[in-house]
Amino acid sequence: MTDTRTGVPSKTKGPLPLYLDDVVVLRKPHPCGGDTWRIVRLGADIGLRCLTCGHRVLVARAAVERDIKRFASRGPLAPTD
Ligand SMILES: [Zn+2]
Repeated sequence: MTDTRTGVPSKTKGPLPLYLDDVVVLRKPHPCGGDTWRIVRLGADIGLRCLTCGHRVLVARAAVERDIKRFASRGPLAPTD
C-alpha cells in the first residue's frame, strides 16, 4: 500500500487510524443531507463537523469507525504511506 488510501479496507482488523482534518464520508447522512464530515477532535469521542451545514457533533469513536464509508481526503497529520 504505497499510495493514498481513499477506501476503508473491510477486512482489516484493529482500530481505524483517524487524524485531525481527515474528511470522511459516513453511511448515515446528517439530517441536512450531507454525508461528509471533517474530524475536528480526537479522543474517546470523535468531534465531527458536517461540511454541508457546519454543525458539530461528538460521536463515540467506535460508532464513527463503524459508520465510515470512505475517506474523502486525509488530513495533513495522516501518514501518506
Ligand atoms: Zn449537516
